[in-house]
Amino acid sequence: METGSTKRRTVLVAQGVGRSYHGKAVVSEVDLAVPAGQTVAVLGPSGAGKSTMLRCLAGLEPIQTGSVGFQGELLSKAGAKPRAVGGRIGMVFQQFNLFPHLTAAQNVALAPVKARHTPKRQAHTEARALLERVGLPEHCDHYPYELSGGQQQRVAIARALAMRPELMLFDEPTSALDPEFTREVLSVMRDLADSGMTIIVVTHEMGFARQSADRVVFMAEGRIVEDGPADTVFTTPRHGRTRQFFDQILGE
Ligand code: ADP
Repeated sequence: METGSTKRRTVLVAQGVGRSYHGKAVVSEVDLAVPAGQTVAVLGPSGAGKSTMLRCLAGLEPIQTGSVGFQGELLSKAGAKPRAVGGRIGMVFQQFNLFPHLTAAQNVALAPVKARHTPKRQAHTEARALLERVGLPEHCDHYPYELSGGQQQRVAIARALAMRPELMLFDEPTSALDPEFTREVLSVMRDLADSGMTIIVVTHEMGFARQSADRVVFMAEGRIVEDGPADTVFTTPRHGRTRQFFDQILGE
C-alpha cells in the first residue's frame, strides 16, 4: 500500500478514454492518473464498463477517443492500434488460463524464456522463487489439474510477476473462486500492494477494496462517477449512484 507523502511518478495516465461497440458507448470520458505504488480498486455494478476500461488501459482494446500513457510513453490513442508493451503490464483475469500440459513452474517460466530470452535455468529458478512468494513452494511441479482454483490463480499471478511488470491489472481475480480460496488470493494481492506494486483491480470484494486499496474508483454506465481515497469513498460517498451501490451490495 502507498506510504509517505512524497510526490510519486505517474505510471499510467488515461485522458478522455472512450470505447464503444456497434455505436453504443461502453466506456466514456475516462480520466485517471495512477501514481507508482498506488492500489486502485475499481468498483461498480455489472455492465458498468469496468472490464472494458481495464482492457483499454492495458492496451488490449483499441480506443475511440482519448489516449493512454504508460511510464511517460503513449500506449494507446484514438483510432490507432495500441502499442504492445508485453509483460510490462501484467494482467490477471477471472479465468486463470494456465497451460494444462505444463507444470506450475513451467507455466511461470514460459514467457520470460519465449518473450525475453531469459536462459531456461534462470527462468526456472526465478519461477520457483515466485511460486514461493505466492505461497506455493510445494506445488512447483504440479500440473494445473492437481491444483485448486485458488492455487491456479496464484500461479497465474506468479506468471504475470515473472515478466517483472511495472503495473498489475486484475480483472475480478476471485470471482470464479470459492470463499476459502478467495482469501488466499486476496492475501497474495495484499502482499503485492504492500510491496509497492502499482495495481488496478476490478473487484466485488468490498473488504479488500476498503482495507487494501489506497483509492476507489466507482463506475456506472461507462463513466467514473466517483474517485477518491478508499476510506472516504466508503464512509462518505458523494454521488447518489455510489451510495445506492453500497446500500445494495453491503445490505445496509
Ligand atoms: P463490467 O466489467 O462493469 O461488468 P463490461 O466492461 O464487461 O462491464 O461490459 C460493459 C458493457 O459492454 C456491457 O453491456 C457488455 O455487454 C458490453 N460489451 C463488453 N464487451 C463487448 C464486446 N466485445 N462486444 C460488444 N459489447 C461488449
